[in-house]
Amino acid sequence: MILRNKVAIITGAASGIGKAIATTFAREGAAVVIDHLHGSDETAQLVRSITDADGHAIAISADVSSNEGIEHLFEGCASRFGAVDILVNNAGIETRSALLETSEAEYDRVMAVDLKGAFFCMQRAARQMMAAGKGGRILNISSVHEDQPMPGNTAYCCAKGGMRMLTRTAGVELAPHGITVVGIAPGAVDTPINTRTLLDPSSRARLEQAIPLGRVARPEEVAELALWLASDKANYLTATTVFIDGGIMRASTGL
Ligand code: BGC
Repeated sequence: MILRNKVAIITGAASGIGKAIATTFAREGAAVVIDHLHGSDETAQLVRSITDADGHAIAISADVSSNEGIEHLFEGCASRFGAVDILVNNAGIETRSALLETSEAEYDRVMAVDLKGAFFCMQRAARQMMAAGKGGRILNISSVHEDQPMPGNTAYCCAKGGMRMLTRTAGVELAPHGITVVGIAPGAVDTPINTRTLLDPSSRARLEQAIPLGRVARPEEVAELALWLASDKANYLTATTVFIDGGIMRASTGL
């Protein structure tokens, strides 16, 4: 169990990649705090499946787009498990709207959840980690779109581009304290964010054709990478992003 005695907060962990990370970290001994926006049966079921397997987990409903929500999340973690050792900034949304169609409200919401939330969760976690003096790990779940344009999803690309630089800058700032900051950039993953594409046979076929490995990822495949990055095996990695995308970033468009 490579995360024994570690406390991990995973934001947006009710479904998708966050859920897979919570399950994987708990399997490896971490006490996990499952942040979710709205209480859901899925979250209760997730906590139950972890505790039934003798793992440690709690669910906290907190909106990480505000510092008030973040405060609530970290206080809940501290009162049950103590200071956080591993933060996974996973909460993310996209609106799939082009530059010309994006409303101010859509832009603000995407930025607040995907970038501001990650920024202030990181600040809060880093303060706790520094006070505890044991170093720590921060993983930012980004996207290939921190680097690759996705026309029709502009605000999301801006947020992920910001996360790319957050990872680099915070990684350098926090390195003297033994805190590492690493981005994970998945390509297309079988999660709720992609449901619409995956349920439409022609969109799905187009997507799979663009991926050199010929298929979308399973959330568990991303979670195994997160596990390795959260463990002591990854001590020397910081201020960078690891891509897990089936080769999509390197694929030729054929044009
Ligand atoms: C986006 C998906 C997209 C995938 C691959 C993800 O970051 O959330 O909408 O399908 O990247 O392009």
